[in-house]
Amino acid sequence: MKGIASFVPRSDHLVPFPESADRDAAKTVQAADDFGHVVGSRPLGVFSPPSVAALCEFVAVAGPRGLPVSARGGGYSVYGQGQAEGGYVVDLGALNEVRCTPAARTVTAGAGARWSEVVRAALAEGLTPPVLPDHLGGSVGGLLSTGGLGGSSHRHGLVADHVRELAVVTGAGEEVTCSRERHRDLFDAVLAGLGQCALIVRATLDLVPAPALVRRFRLYHHTPGTFFADQRALARDDRFSHVCGQARPALDGAWDYMIEAVAPHTGQLPVDDTLLTGGLEHDRDTEEIENLSYEEFLRRMDRDERILRTTGEWQRPHPWLTLLLPEEAAAEFVPKVLADHAQNGLRACGVVQLRPLTSRALRAPLLRRPPGELLCLLSLMRTAPPGAPENVREAVAANRALYERARDLGGVLHPTSAVPMTSGDWRAHFGPAWETLARAKHRYDPHSVLTRGYGLWP
Ligand SMILES: Cc1cc2nc3c(=O)[nH]c(=O)nc-3n(C[C@H](O)[C@H](O)[C@H](O)COP(=O)(O)OP(=O)(O)OC[C@H]3O[C@@H](n4cnc5c(N)ncnc54)[C@H](O)[C@@H]3O)c2cc1C
Repeated sequence: MKGIASFVPRSDHLVPFPESADRDAAKTVQAADDFGHVVGSRPLGVFSPPSVAALCEFVAVAGPRGLPVSARGGGYSVYGQGQAEGGYVVDLGALNEVRCTPAARTVTAGAGARWSEVVRAALAEGLTPPVLPDHLGGSVGGLLSTGGLGGSSHRHGLVADHVRELAVVTGAGEEVTCSRERHRDLFDAVLAGLGQCALIVRATLDLVPAPALVRRFRLYHHTPGTFFADQRALARDDRFSHVCGQARPALDGAWDYMIEAVAPHTGQLPVDDTLLTGGLEHDRDTEEIENLSYEEFLRRMDRDERILRTTGEWQRPHPWLTLLLPEEAAAEFVPKVLADHAQNGLRACGVVQLRPLTSRALRAPLLRRPPGELLCLLSLMRTAPPGAPENVREAVAANRALYERARDLGGVLHPTSAVPMTSGDWRAHFGPAWETLARAKHRYDPHSVLTRGYGLWP
């Protein structure tokens, strides 16, 4: 298990290899940490490949020497998943070209490009990826390596489910182009594959026509029962293109629940909102309805990020936990979790996200999910106070305890979480997919140097 926030940059240990690795101590310090500020590591250095060929050369030399190599995109991991203790962090920032091909309805993006850049290029052609994450600051490679869930995932699955082709560099330092038709085993091992078999350098994704406007509904519930019943109904039908939700602190230690649902909108009036909200059980007196441009909706987190940067919360430790629950367990499990005193901090600082998902829409084989057709994603996005490592340690221990409770109900961890996991835990997590992943790891990362931050292998 890793230590909490205690890293020392080992500039004295910078080895003369590889020649092209960056010895800049500031970059190495940054690579020893991430958005979570929960665990730290001691990388030897940072390598910023100017080209795919340079990355191939680097990995081909690092592998036989057993030097760990992890890619870094946006650095939004919360538990060291992109760190490289005793090895090299590869900063893919320079591989960030984004090219849209409207005739083919595709966009090709370098792994280091941010989703905000993909959105900009696609919208300029009136197109959009069918699924996008809420936060557009992460990198293309980083999100595809974890799968990528968004507001439209109940209908269209993962961001990774819309990848047409990938260019990757394997742990043997070879560039390979893979897709459903070519090197399918590698393609399936890379999408939601936690960077274990190859580093993504370029991805081509399908696009669909983008609406100009959307109509956004915020529907408030005072009881979890009606909230989960409505989320269930909205996951099953197609009336909204995007659905997500939150639990929000209410008076006297209680929680309210809010569904945010979005539908494409022509802008023509009059609009019959009852067609969209008919049959739902929210509090009609408090519903909020507004029109937004689609771009404004996609960039909705930019403002939140600006505010959190100003208040300093963005820079604080983020011991986050994300679980996928069987939907039928969520209505009982979630209120119990929120009533637990270990979660009190969430009332003051953090976000509780609840997203409905349908299993049939999720296709990448390595994205593990509970059995059953309807699922609920619970994300406890808490912010810990600065300078209080004890508090962070307690939050991580609470995450682990909650993960075990959820697992007993058939729940599954989302690997982006701040939860200590043993290799045995990962084996159980992947279940029947473990052997396939292990075979692909052996074949494509023969020296087992890639993305060790997850701790998958003994
Ligand atoms: C504010 C916030 C909001 C978020 N919202 C969402 C959301 O809506 N939906 C969602 O699904 N996730 C969400 N996440 C989780 C986030 O998208 C994932 O953690 C993602 O992996 C981060 O990618 P990154 O490039 O920023 O991070 P990094 O820390 O740079 O990378 C994440 C992981 O991917 C690996 N990696 C990076 N680049 C590559 C590559 N080219 N090839 C192979 N592996 C690579 C890294 O080594 C690391 O293991 C959110 C996170 C934050 C902090």
